[in-house]
Parts: sequence; structure tokens; C-alpha cells
Amino acid sequence: MAIATESQQQHKASAERSPVEKQRWTLEDFDIGKPLGRGKFGHVYVAREKRSQHVVALKVLFKSQLKESQVEHQLRREVEIQSHLRHPNILRLYGYFYDQKRVYLILEYAAKGELYKELQKCKYFSERRAATYVASLAGALIYCHGKHVIHRDIKPENLLVGAQGELKIADFGWSVHTFNRRRTMCGTLDYLPPEMVESVEHDANVDIWSLGVLCYEFLYGVPPFEAKEHSDTYRRIIQVDLKFPSKPAVSSAAKDLISQMLVKDSSQRLPLHKLLEHPWIVQNADASGVFRG
Ligand code: AMP
Repeated sequence: MAIATESQQQHKASAERSPVEKQRWTLEDFDIGKPLGRGKFGHVYVAREKRSQHVVALKVLFKSQLKESQVEHQLRREVEIQSHLRHPNILRLYGYFYDQKRVYLILEYAAKGELYKELQKCKYFSERRAATYVASLAGALIYCHGKHVIHRDIKPENLLVGAQGELKIADFGWSVHTFNRRRTMCGTLDYLPPEMVESVEHDANVDIWSLGVLCYEFLYGVPPFEAKEHSDTYRRIIQVDLKFPSKPAVSSAAKDLISQMLVKDSSQRLPLHKLLEHPWIVQNADASGVFRG
């Protein structure tokens, strides 16, 4: 009798708490559903936590592959950083567990999948859609920077879309918790600011540059410094060789904002709180952060 009562109480308590509150998880706690995608180090599945019925994304990483690629340290940093962030436009990391062969990350489920695919489908976004996304990401980055977290790898592939159509920054693999200026070269070439391409010190303003590159790609469908050869992309970034094609037609207000973000001297880039006051954002962004097409 006493045991039954205790287990009933446990069940009630676990149904009330979110997955984040549990200390120790095992695979037994989840019903595994369909695969959502495949990453470099493993697979991602939709899953339901049995007691709370909370739907999550379970990322399964193989220890052997993490070790081989020497990214265990990077993963630890990613988990440490992402699990402490709470923002509607940042993908939650509720917790993790592991067995002999695998590491499992319990992630917020982003029902509408990858933004990258949506951009490929549409080729480029409308100004209202782009501004709404850029404003919501600026809010998320202001939050990160306030916690001394620099993302350093903002690009369409690292953005997921939630059930309401809101963006979620995922993949904090290159992010860093810092009080100092850094020198490490990381991120993807097209989105790297001049100071990282040249491996000189950088700070949180790297994320303003990447958001400028992203804004350009939302509006034109291609990143601004794209070139056939890596060496040409490097050169174009260092020279800030920024050109605005005549098609698709983009407003001068949008071009003005991008030009204020893609500035070589990182201290002269438009601060994110000023970005939110820029006329293009004010006129086009939906304050809810959700684009309603
Ligand atoms: P990744 O290993 O993070 O690159 O994930 C591989 C793929 O799984 C992604 O490209 C997404 O399509 C999908 N995916 C990853 N995380 C989630 C999530 N939290 N919600 C929905 N789909 C996801």
C-alpha cells in the first residue's frame, strides 16, 4: 500500500515538472518516434517523455565519433552554455544522459524544422519576413551577450523553426562564454567577420556581422561574400566587398541596415539595441517575432 502511494506521488510530481527538472535520465524514460534528421555525429529523433508526455527532440551522438573528431570538449561547452539559456528564440537544452556508447541530448522540439530548407524553397524572403526574423534574432543575441555568451556561428543551418513559426537558435557548438577578447578561428567561412578571418582578437560584435550576413542572405538568397574559391571569399570579407544586386529588388532602408552591420571595424557596427530601432526593422518586423505570411 505504502509503495503504491509513493509511486503515485512520484508520478504526479513528474507529470507536473518539465523534463529539465529531473536530475538523471535514461533511454527508458522516453518513447522514441520518427527520425528528424541526421547530423555529423549522430541522429535526432522526436521523442516523448513517458511521464510528462512532453515532446522533445532527442539527439543521439556516438562517443566514438566525438572522440575521433576531438569534439568532446566542444560538446561539453555547448551543453554547459545552452542548458543555462532561457529565451523564446533560443532552443532549450533540457538535459543530457549517456550510456557506454552514446551521449543523448534532450532538446526542445522545433516542429517546423530547419529554416535553411524554407529559404531554399522560397529562394529569398520578403522584407517583412526577413525583418521579423532579424529582429527576433537580435533579441536573442542581446540576451546571450548580456550573459557573456557569444554564439559565433549564426547561419541558416543553425536556425530551427518552432510550431508557431518563431525562430530558434540551435547549435551552440562554437559558442563561447567569455569575459575577454578571443582569438580562436571558428564558424563557417561565409559568415566569418574580418577579425576572425584574420585571426585577430574578437568579441561579441562578431555576432552583429553574422546577423548582417544572414539578413543579406534572407533578402537575396545568397550570402554577400560568396565566391567559387575560398581564397576569394576571404579577400571579399577582408575588403568588405559588399555589393547589392539589382534583383531581387530590396529597399534602400534594408541595404542601409546591412551596410551598418557589415563594417570592418567591429566597434563601429550598429549595436543590436540600435538595430531594433532602425526604420527598416520598425516598419517591417512583426513584434511577436512570428512571420504571418
Ligand atoms: P544536427 O545534428 O543538430 O545537425 O541535427 C540534424 C537534423 O535534425 C537537423 O538538420 C534538423 O533537421 C533535425 N533537428 C535537430 N534538432 C532538432 C530539433 N530540436 N527539433 C526538430 N528538428 C531537429
